[in-house]
Amino acid sequence: MGQARILVVEDEVIVARSIASQLSQLGYIVTGTASSGKVAIAKALETHPELVLMDIILKGEMDGIATASKIREQLDVPIIFLTAYGDDHTLERAKITQPFGYIVKPFTTKDLKIAIEIGLLKHQLERELRESRDQLATLLNSMSDAVIATNEQGKVTFINPAAEALTGWQQKDALGNEAAKIFHLVNEVTETILENPVTKVLREQQVVYLEEFTSLIRRDGKRVPIGDSASPLKGRSDQINGVVVVFWDLSERHQTKLLEQALEKEQELNRLKSLFISTVSHEFRNPLTVIQTAVELIEMQGANLTDAKRGIYLKRIQAAVQSLEKLMEEVLFMGRAEAEKLVYNPAPLNLEHFCRELIKEFSIVENSGCEIVFTCSSICNDAVMDEGLLHYMFGNLLSNAVKYSPKGGKIQLELICDSIEKVAIFCVQDQGLGIPETDQARLFESFYRASNVQSIQGTGLGLVIVKRCVDAHNGQINVTSEVGVGTKFTVILPLNSQL
Ligand code: ATP
Ligand code: MG
Repeated sequence: MGQARILVVEDEVIVARSIASQLSQLGYIVTGTASSGKVAIAKALETHPELVLMDIILKGEMDGIATASKIREQLDVPIIFLTAYGDDHTLERAKITQPFGYIVKPFTTKDLKIAIEIGLLKHQLERELRESRDQLATLLNSMSDAVIATNEQGKVTFINPAAEALTGWQQKDALGNEAAKIFHLVNEVTETILENPVTKVLREQQVVYLEEFTSLIRRDGKRVPIGDSASPLKGRSDQINGVVVVFWDLSERHQTKLLEQALEKEQELNRLKSLFISTVSHEFRNPLTVIQTAVELIEMQGANLTDAKRGIYLKRIQAAVQSLEKLMEEVLFMGRAEAEKLVYNPAPLNLEHFCRELIKEFSIVENSGCEIVFTCSSICNDAVMDEGLLHYMFGNLLSNAVKYSPKGGKIQLELICDSIEKVAIFCVQDQGLGIPETDQARLFESFYRASNVQSIQGTGLGLVIVKRCVDAHNGQINVTSEVGVGTKFTVILPLNSQL
């Protein structure tokens, strides 16, 4: 620092010379001396000093203060005033020129050195501060993320161009306004207006993040999905003196995500379609082969065919036709449900009567050898449900219970009508094979069959149909099961889902 270049402005020639010589002794370079404001300005512009020592009282049109302010208008140079007396008025005026120090005459060489070094240091620090402030402003202005800063009252003190574009608020309108006025947030799912993050940060005194599915309501009323964080701005002694909110537009990310989801869904649908076709054709082939073989045997044996054998072959054909019929029905049902054309036709229904009839019919058709026990301890005569869909639902559950139980097993169907909760609860329980825990979560997927039933015939569509029927009633279904102990399916349906 010792080599600083200094301009001396002093109208008393002897004093000026003495200061210049003191400066030289101290190792500074004197770029010139001036005895009037006019000369001082000219010399400053010509020699570009690093510091100016300026006498406040100058002869001529301009005193030191006026000269200093002219120089400061054109050059970024620190000015130190020399003054013999400092009356309040003069000092107030001098302050306007943002002086870097005062030296009161008479002064020692040491005083001079200290004042100059402090002035130079202060100037350097100020320049560094200004530079880093400029850098910060450039950074914030060129950032693609939107930034809004507020003071401790939540009033906007800064808004960058990205935030202007996203909120639709221009800097000139936004500055000084409540942040809550220009930063409206809404939850896209619940449609509720969200608390302004600035208010929240000021209250909670910590960083807050936006919840998912938040949208910003722009000044023009349009919505933009955004992500954001808001942090407290801390000043001295950890006092919060503002908030900075950083947020960004998620529209593009949302679009990409939606596209990806649609693509995934499409791929999954294609996969399921192929699986469906191959499984269904395979399932059709089995009974067709049975029929073909039986017909060939009847033909081959011709007149030699005994009545007993004919009976066996016809029974095989009958069973195969029945299983084809069931499969056809399931596939048709799935087709209708997939096309979202599952017709829901609710009508008043006596559930107890429905269950009794179903069991009667089921026992005749299935001839399962299992005993189906029905219990109903409440009055269930005022339900409004779709009888056809209930038939599919419990037909499939009972058929599973029979299929996956040993011959002669006991199956229970229990019906409870809860008139307070306004629901009907159906439980179908068996003491059969049970379902391994790892398979339980996937039972309602198309074609999914548990690992312990692979040797038993089935397509894996029954429970999918059950689930569709339950959904059509706005109901719920769940399963509890233990391998070797048995399985219980519980279906809960609103007594009248139309209410
Ligand atoms: P289908 O389409 O002919 O009904 P499926 O019976 O295999 O074939 P679902 O009714 O959908 O298909 O049942 C899916 C799977 O759930 C079955 O394969 C079986 O593993 C398991 N499951 C269902 N009900 C029971 C039950 N009561 N006991 C044991 N396992 C069961
Ligand atoms: Mg089944």
